[in-house]
Amino acid sequence: MAEDEAAGSGEAAQFDRAMMRLAIDQARNAWAVGEVPVGAVVVREGRVLATGYNQPIGTHDPTAHAEICALRAASDLLANYRLVDCDLYVTLEPCAMCAGAIMHARLRRVVYGARDPKTGAAGSIVDLFAEARLNHHTEVTAGVLADECGELLSSFFAERRGGRGGGDARPEAAALPDAGGIDVRFDDEAAQR
Ligand SMILES: [Zn+2]
Repeated sequence: MAEDEAAGSGEAAQFDRAMMRLAIDQARNAWAVGEVPVGAVVVREGRVLATGYNQPIGTHDPTAHAEICALRAASDLLANYRLVDCDLYVTLEPCAMCAGAIMHARLRRVVYGARDPKTGAAGSIVDLFAEARLNHHTEVTAGVLADECGELLSSFFAERRGGRGGGDARPEAAALPDAGGIDVRFDDEAAQR
């Protein structure tokens, strides 16, 4: 694991953790609307440009991962499909689709929390960021607040399965609306993302 590099006490590491906390807040927004809790934040020059959270079910859009939502919002704001000098913070290791989008956007750096052993494309299944034949290279930092990011996902799936006493593990989402009347079915964790 790469937690060591992310667990530093330096100013940069502290900033990374602060941004990841914002991404975790976004992940909670996803949970609040019945989506798998993954959140993302786009940052430029130390300032948050845009946020996004996972919402493929509610939007009927298989591309509506947190990263894509945040990239779209940032690109819209800058009126530019290239997000030069921007960094993306995301609570879960990007999939192949998002890794592609990140590189197309020319992001400088991607910082992720938990590893995704099922679809992770930053080292877990494949490492597209290390593929020398691709023409842009985004720097990757792994494992920032990995435990918190992973715990959110674990709690979500435990609640969906009715496990852990069937209690309400939902962090802040309990009082928020459900998935807008959509009957969300969860058959398998891997099928959700
Ligand atoms: Zn993705």
